[in-house]
Amino acid sequence: MPIINSSKTDPNKILPMTYLWARQHYKDGIANNWTPEEVSMQKDVEQWKSPQVLSDEERRLILWNLGFFSTAESLTANNIVLAVYNHVTNPESRQYLLRQAFEEAVHTDTFIYCCDTLGLDPDEIYNMYQTIPSIREKDEFVVDLTRSVLDPGFNTEGLENVQQFVRDLVGFYVIMEGIFFYAGFAMMLALKRQNKMVGIGEQFEYIMRDESLHLAFGCDLINTIKVENPEIWTQAFQDEIVELITRSVALEQRYAHDACPNGLLGINADQFSEYVEYIADRRLERIGLPRVYGRQNPFPWMSQSTDLAKEKNFFETRVTEYRTGASLTWD
Ligand code: FE
Ligand code: MN
Repeated sequence: MPIINSSKTDPNKILPMTYLWARQHYKDGIANNWTPEEVSMQKDVEQWKSPQVLSDEERRLILWNLGFFSTAESLTANNIVLAVYNHVTNPESRQYLLRQAFEEAVHTDTFIYCCDTLGLDPDEIYNMYQTIPSIREKDEFVVDLTRSVLDPGFNTEGLENVQQFVRDLVGFYVIMEGIFFYAGFAMMLALKRQNKMVGIGEQFEYIMRDESLHLAFGCDLINTIKVENPEIWTQAFQDEIVELITRSVALEQRYAHDACPNGLLGINADQFSEYVEYIADRRLERIGLPRVYGRQNPFPWMSQSTDLAKEKNFFETRVTEYRTGASLTWD
């Protein structure tokens, strides 16, 4: 039974399952469970209050990333619940979507926790998607691309509507979660590597681990729709998706340069741009499209830091590792 447009699918009958990958992503999500309060913010609060530790540029970069992510997480959650869930009636995929929706709530909670502990002005943070052009442009790009799927009259029947639905999936899973999140991840993890704002850095690591699963689910969903509806995958549609992804790369590079104009200790702003190109190629390949950039990964430590199966020092921090032995691979 196909994953969309099957009148035979009973959303309440999960067994027997058709799409075992969806089930596996659900289990991997459960194995990664975490909450922001498990990460201590004590050292971050001290560093944030101290006039010596962080430069003005680093403070600005942290605020920008909190500003971007705080609203991007709710935009993503809304898209799952209000658009994707409506049209994907397959029960094991819906089980995953419910899990992902919960994870987006955890991510939203992370930014509440950061605002509270650091004493940030919520109006400043939550208005950045309107006040900072390079944040606003990223959000508008995804929202414009996906608006028609939110129309109550939208359905996925017919070639053009299936393509429109795939545009929505590309917009949120591949571009928002797979490209627009990654310059920010790299910046916050680069700071953490310098022992700056390590609590927020660790929260970003957990978010990145979740997002790599969201991305994997989204790509599996796109690839399944392609296999089941091969007529949508015309050359023109492939070209359009490649073009959307290259435009999103340009927006993310602009964001990286605006958020971090002079780089961070040992990293110049151009390397963030190269990193965005490197990950964009990975995303293209994951949905069966050719690479565009051919970049090497300028930050090999980024893929290491997604391996969060870390041995925590029991006496210093709480153990936040819930994994029960399942082995995971990361994008
Ligand atoms: Fe998220
Ligand atoms: Mn997500």
